[in-house]
Amino acid sequence: MTTATLYIVATPIGNLEDMTYRAVRILGEVDLIAAEDTRHSLKLLSHFGISKSMTSYFDHNQQFKGERILNTLRQGKSVALISDAGTPCVSDPGYQLVRDAVAEGIPVIPIPGACAAVAALSASGLPTDTFTFAGFPPSRQGKRRTFLTEMSSLPGTLVLYEAPHRLEETLLDIREVLGERQVVVARELTKIYEELIRGNVTEVLEAVSRGKVRGEIVIMIPPGEKIPSETVSLEDTLRRLMQDDLISIKDAAKKASEITGVSRSEAYSAALKLRNSTEL
Ligand code: SAM
Repeated sequence: MTTATLYIVATPIGNLEDMTYRAVRILGEVDLIAAEDTRHSLKLLSHFGISKSMTSYFDHNQQFKGERILNTLRQGKSVALISDAGTPCVSDPGYQLVRDAVAEGIPVIPIPGACAAVAALSASGLPTDTFTFAGFPPSRQGKRRTFLTEMSSLPGTLVLYEAPHRLEETLLDIREVLGERQVVVARELTKIYEELIRGNVTEVLEAVSRGKVRGEIVIMIPPGEKIPSETVSLEDTLRRLMQDDLISIKDAAKKASEITGVSRSEAYSAALKLRNSTEL
């Protein structure tokens, strides 16, 4: 296949039967495969009898490798991008390469397939008409709470990726920031120990703290009812938003007003008062 095209190829998130016929064909036909981890992907490719030149493309070599991959494309060759699992560019490298290829008028073709976020959402039983995928929450508690506070004003189901060793602390923060809510934790999708744990945050916390949670995890939180202002304190909301100094007073007031329902001017005065106090 020698026409300059960049294929973004999804691969399975566990179960190899989720590889598509088209993905196997395209990976067998392209001139070069760019993989997040070539050794990891070699196993997948040999399972499907594909033997092909490969190059690595991961977070820390994106700029340098991106240019080399673009050069291959400029020479009229075809390249397939794959990640370790699932759809490239979704919490995985790829966006910059796609952006640069698009800017040069190089055709970019998606070869769809598994994606943990979409698979989890589809079986969650939570509203799917509107959802926000926000990747991994920050690992530090302060930033994570600010992040959750910001997310709480968005409509639809919130879909997050999380590492197993952070699941408990993230669920605790969800309860702290968003209150007792229904959540669904999808674990090890398509694999032997696949499970979907449903319940309110406390029930799910109990279920996950009974044993050591291993494996790969998606957390989903359905849209909450707009929490009446009496139950969410303006001051607590502002404190959470402003604790890391990552947000301006004006933006904090705007967000706090959306979350609590108080007017923007009232939220702004309270934010100013809080900033001028030593309480933060
Ligand atoms: N690009 C991938 C996709 O399309 O889903 C995601 C890559 S991201 C680096 C890896 C994260 O995706 C894991 O930490 C986990 O949160 C989620 N994930 C991947 N495979 C999963 C699975 N089989 N079950 C549940 N979550 C999974």
